[in-house]
Amino acid sequence: MSRVITAKFGGTSLADASQIRKVAEIIKSNPERRYVVASAPGKRFKDDIKVTDLLYSCYSEFAKGDEYSGTLAKIKARYAEIISELGIKFDIGAEIEKIENELRYYPPADYLASRGEYLNSKIIAEFLGWPFVDAAEVIFFDENGNFDGERTFMTMSGKLRDFPNAVIPGFYGTQISVSSMPQGGIKTFSRGGSDVTGSIVARSTQSDIYENWTDVSGMLSADPRIVSNPKPIEYITYTELRELSYMGASVLHEDAVFPVRKAGIPINIRNTNSPDDKGTLIAATIPSDVKRNPVTGIAGRKGFTSIRVEKSQMNGETGFGARLLYIFARNGIPFEHCPTGIDTISVVVNSSSFDAKRDEILRELKNELSPDFITIEKNLAVIAVVGEGMVSARGTAAKVFSALAEAGVNIRMIDQGSDELNIIIGVDEADYEKSLKALYSAMIK
Ligand code: ASP
Repeated sequence: MSRVITAKFGGTSLADASQIRKVAEIIKSNPERRYVVASAPGKRFKDDIKVTDLLYSCYSEFAKGDEYSGTLAKIKARYAEIISELGIKFDIGAEIEKIENELRYYPPADYLASRGEYLNSKIIAEFLGWPFVDAAEVIFFDENGNFDGERTFMTMSGKLRDFPNAVIPGFYGTQISVSSMPQGGIKTFSRGGSDVTGSIVARSTQSDIYENWTDVSGMLSADPRIVSNPKPIEYITYTELRELSYMGASVLHEDAVFPVRKAGIPINIRNTNSPDDKGTLIAATIPSDVKRNPVTGIAGRKGFTSIRVEKSQMNGETGFGARLLYIFARNGIPFEHCPTGIDTISVVVNSSSFDAKRDEILRELKNELSPDFITIEKNLAVIAVVGEGMVSARGTAAKVFSALAEAGVNIRMIDQGSDELNIIIGVDEADYEKSLKALYSAMIK
């Protein structure tokens, strides 16, 4: 049996006719690429506006009772240019008219926002000579607006079985409870959600691989705004990806991982503008013949506060940690890290959420735990050094700490995930950039 590939193309890959031509070439170069998921046209140049953003502006003008025809005309013009340059037959006037008619019924903003991918996918299907399958017929949300996986996978796999090839718009589906309203049933994922659609299609079609085509040759091992020319990551596991994405390294919509991960389908991030590059392969396990660096990537974020609670004999007091964390939980503050000593526990939290509840939390900590001291350290940046190979590589932690010492950075917190997948370091926000550079040079370069 031949392999099946689901290929999702992002907004910059489909921003104009010449990009769409590149995409068509990529699709046609491998017949295994049978299912294509398309985003709305993105930015063609730095200050350009994405079609999705134009659609949201159009909606807010409409909702406020302002004149929206100028914005709608801009959207129409973007598609008209693509259509004429591709030389296909497509009645964009009639489509825009249909959307305007729907507006009379006051559909949700999601309906209008979804039209970006709807129109682009129809145009691409026409250009490829492939069938178009509307996501509204195969992706479902329940009455609370949560993605309904069971219904979706069942419907979509049944439907796509009849289609050897198809173009499916990303970003949206139908919300069941409101489907009787005129177009009221359309609901989108959060921004960047075409990645999620791609993952759902890959899972439903039991694809061998989910290709996610974008404008970079994969994920980078550090933030390129801080480290110049960081190495691309060739292989990364889902777990490592999760750690790095959580710390701010973004390459995919967070929810895009779950459907394919569950089905054991690897994701390959590829570059439409450089299709020969291998990109990044994200998989559950990496083939054993692949030699990887013990550290896969480094990422971090600013904006944390550490609350250190000290009490002598704390270690003999059963339930102290639980009561401490419960105070944060009760106030709706999730904790990020919780390094402990014998008589101290630190709770690292997001500064902005903590600041809003600071006085209540301090009062409750004092009243309920009677600590000897509470020390608050603000302006903390947290950096994660991530790599599954660190478990078996001796001396990794020593290298991390000496790199920071040599760079003159004072380490304010250390935490190692219990899976030995990462070393988490807290430093002053002012030392963040310096630390990241030093760690990159020592651990990856
Ligand atoms: N067009 C949508 C957005 O801009 C979804 C996507 O491109 O993934 O967020």
